[in-house]
Amino acid sequence: MIHKYYLFHPVMFLARHHLRHVILHVTDRCNLRCRTCFVRKQTHDMALADAKAIASKLGKVRWLDIGGGEPFLHPELTAICGLFPGSEITIPTNGQMPEHIHRTVLELASAFKNRLTLAVSLDGFEATNDSLRGEGSYGKALRTLELLRAVPCITVKVNTVVCAANFSELTSFMRFVRGLAPDYHSLLLLRGAPEDSALALPPLDALEAATEEVLNILGSYDYGDKGNPLLRVLKKRYQRYLWLLNLKTLRTQQCWVPCKAPCLHRAVYPDGAVSLCELMPPVGNLLEEPMDLLEEKMIDTLARYERSHGPCFCTHNCNLGENIQTHFRSILSVLLGMDP
Ligand code: SF4
Ligand code: SF4
Repeated sequence: MIHKYYLFHPVMFLARHHLRHVILHVTDRCNLRCRTCFVRKQTHDMALADAKAIASKLGKVRWLDIGGGEPFLHPELTAICGLFPGSEITIPTNGQMPEHIHRTVLELASAFKNRLTLAVSLDGFEATNDSLRGEGSYGKALRTLELLRAVPCITVKVNTVVCAANFSELTSFMRFVRGLAPDYHSLLLLRGAPEDSALALPPLDALEAATEEVLNILGSYDYGDKGNPLLRVLKKRYQRYLWLLNLKTLRTQQCWVPCKAPCLHRAVYPDGAVSLCELMPPVGNLLEEPMDLLEEKMIDTLARYERSHGPCFCTHNCNLGENIQTHFRSILSVLLGMDP
């Protein structure tokens, strides 16, 4: 049965299969212990049989973000990605197994030609990165980046979690990364409560003061769209909008783009647990309950939360993508190059 939510949001009903975004945590194992990590490290890999059942229940997925732990520790990562043949796939990696990652990506690149993005995590120059992510992690991640840049028909980006510990060198590090020539650089504002309470987001004033330089560097990338100038311009405008929207959200502590997570977004964990997003607790388990029922629970969970707290907001880039793409004012702003 269709949830009554869709009677008031018919466009969402029509859009949901075309704009659906899933974060599929294939493992919670990791070979690093980053100080900014929000993942509870255990020892679970998603079983391939469970992944098959989950893929068939999820149906059409436009964007698939593989999550972890470290995804390349999963021995059947290629087979799991193969369960989503029509999706655009992004795989983040800490880059600690350069040759293994390179081999796996070569296998995936032929199946997902021009639809595969690899995100290598680097949180600053060597001393800063290694103090946050572990001794020796910088060199291995750089080697992985170098190997991946040579793989044809994929997009390669660098992910940097922005926090107080790396902020003083952020823009010089961004210029250094620019020189390594990835397709682009994503800045992720620290989220959640890291295990190390000494880490925090830099002060908002400092983030705002760095904005002009941050945006200049982000605007210098071609976002993997060398042959499509229009798409390239839109992606640059989108990245600018995203950064400014996050700062506006932090400054005002309120929601500027309504969250569509119950219809468009799912975070799925190795045991099949599913939640609205990585910041909300699971509402049930995909291996035990039908997707329609779980979707109803997600709609009800967000509605309950918003009744007591007001419109939910966060600065979680992964979810903001589909929220922005289904928000008329944001679409217009990105198209026209206006700020939020
Ligand atoms: S690589 Fe990712 S999952 Fe592993 S500890 Fe670091 S942040 Fe956590
Ligand atoms: S606004 Fe953010 S935290 Fe709230 S439900 Fe949406 S994605 Fe999750």
